[in-house]
Amino acid sequence: MSHGKPAAMRRDFGDRAELVAYLQSAFPVAAACDAHIAATMGGRRAAESALARIDPTAYAATRNQLSGAVTRLSSYLRHGVLSLAEVRNAALRIAPQAAAKLISELGWRDYYRRVYGVIGGGVWRDLEPYKTGWQAHTYAATLPVDITAGATGLACIDAFSRELRTTGYLHNHARMWLAAYIVHFRRVRWQAGARWFLAHLLDGDPASNNLSWQWVASTFSHKPYIFNRENLETYTDGVYCRDCPLRGRCDFEGAYSVLEQRLFPHRSTSTAVVEPAPLRYEPAHMEHNLAALSHPIIWLHGDNLNPHSPALTAAGGAPTLWVWDDAQLVRTSISLKRIAFLYECLLELPVTIRRGDVAAEVLTFAAAQRADGVITNASTAPGFAAIRRRLAQTLPVVVLPEVPFVTPPPGIDLRRFSRYWRKVAASAMQAST
Ligand SMILES: Cc1cc2nc3c(=O)[nH]c(=O)nc-3n(C[C@H](O)[C@H](O)[C@H](O)COP(=O)(O)OP(=O)(O)OC[C@H]3O[C@@H](n4cnc5c(N)ncnc54)[C@H](O)[C@@H]3O)c2cc1C
Repeated sequence: MSHGKPAAMRRDFGDRAELVAYLQSAFPVAAACDAHIAATMGGRRAAESALARIDPTAYAATRNQLSGAVTRLSSYLRHGVLSLAEVRNAALRIAPQAAAKLISELGWRDYYRRVYGVIGGGVWRDLEPYKTGWQAHTYAATLPVDITAGATGLACIDAFSRELRTTGYLHNHARMWLAAYIVHFRRVRWQAGARWFLAHLLDGDPASNNLSWQWVASTFSHKPYIFNRENLETYTDGVYCRDCPLRGRCDFEGAYSVLEQRLFPHRSTSTAVVEPAPLRYEPAHMEHNLAALSHPIIWLHGDNLNPHSPALTAAGGAPTLWVWDDAQLVRTSISLKRIAFLYECLLELPVTIRRGDVAAEVLTFAAAQRADGVITNASTAPGFAAIRRRLAQTLPVVVLPEVPFVTPPPGIDLRRFSRYWRKVAASAMQAST
C-alpha cells in the first residue's frame, strides 16, 4: 500500500504448504477459529474429477448409508464451481434411468436458495414456532463445549464433531443426527449449531445450512426430526455403537414413541398446529444491457467461481476482481479451511485478489481500469444485493443469471419442499443446453 495503491494478494505459491503458511498469516482471525486445512482441494480441476466419479445408480440405492455412494460435490456446488444444471446434465448422461434421486437432492439446494432469495436475513430467525412443545426461549443460546470439542462420550457424536472440524464435510445423515442431538437432546437453539457448521463446512451456506437446521428443529417443518440408536446403527453399519462406552445406555436408546415422550413431554397439549402462510416465489428482474458496456470489469463473488460462469463467458479477458470482505470475515468467524478452499478456487481463475470493503474496492479497481461498468454473476444472498446497490450508485452493474436448474412459475409456494417439488420435478429431469 506504499503508494496509496491497493495491494493485490499473492497468487504465486510453490505448493500447498506455502499457500497455507501465507493464509495463516494473512487471515489470523480465521486461523484463530481453526488453522487446520482440509484435504479437499478447491478449484474447477478437482471439481471436474469429482464430477467424473459420480454414480447416480449406486447413489439412488445407497445414499442414506454413511458409506454410500454420495457425490461429495457440495463444496463445489456451494461456490458455483460447478452449476446444478451441469451436475444434473452429467447425471442424465451417465444414468438416464437412475438419475431422478440425485436430481431431486440437487433440487433441495435449488429450493433452499430460492427460499433464501425470498426471506434474506430472515434465514437466521425461526420461520415458524417449534412444534416440540418447548418455547424458543427455553433453548440454550450457545453450544456446550463438550460438543464442539468432541468430548460428550457418545462415540457417534464425538466422531461427527471431529470429522466436521477436520474435513469440513459431513454426510447428510451425520448432519441430521448431529443437529437433532444438539437441538432436541441438548435443547440448544438451532442458530448456535448452524453457526458452528458454517465455520467449518466447506459447503457452508446460509441457505442450505440454516434451512436444514430449521427443518430438523421443526421451525421450517411440521414436526421435529429425531433418531434412535437403531436408526443410527443401521445407516452406519454399527461402526460407532460397536465400541461406544455408552452402548446400551446412551441417549438414543429406545423406540421413537419413548424418545418423543421423553424429549417433548408437552407437545400434544401445548402446540396447536397452524398451517403457516405461503412463501411466494417471485423471479428476480434480470434486465440488463450488456452491449452498452464497452470497457467493463468483472466482479467475482463466492456464489459463482465457475470459469464458465455467465460473467466470465460474456466478458472474458476483462479485468476481473475478487475482494475478501474483511468485516464479514470478522463477523462470521469462518475457519481457515474454508478460506483455503476458496483461495484455491481463485488461483485457477484469471482474477486479481484483494481485501477490504467489497464495494469500495470494486469501485477503486474499476476507476483504475477506467471501466464503464461492472459485470457480475447473479446471487440470492442479501449481502450481494447490498453491494450491488452501492456499486450501482456509481456505475452500471450488469447481473447475469446462470443456466437455471428449474424455472418455477411466479407465485409458486415455497413453504414446503414436497409440495413445491411435485410442481417442478418434471422440468428438473430435463437436461438443459
Ligand atoms: C443440519 C444440516 C446442515 C446442512 N448444511 C449444508 C450446507 O451448509 N451446505 C450444503 O450445501 N448443504 C448442507 N446440508 C445439506 C446436505 O447435507 C449436503 O448438501 C450434503 O450432505 C453434501 O454432501 P454431498 O455433496 O455428498 O451430497 P449428495 O448426497 O451427493 O447430493 C448432491 C448434491 O445435492 C445437494 N443436496 C443433497 N442433499 C441436500 C439437502 N438435504 N439439502 C440441500 N442440498 C442438498 C448438495 O448440493 C449436494 O452436493 C445440510 C444438511 C443438514 C441436515
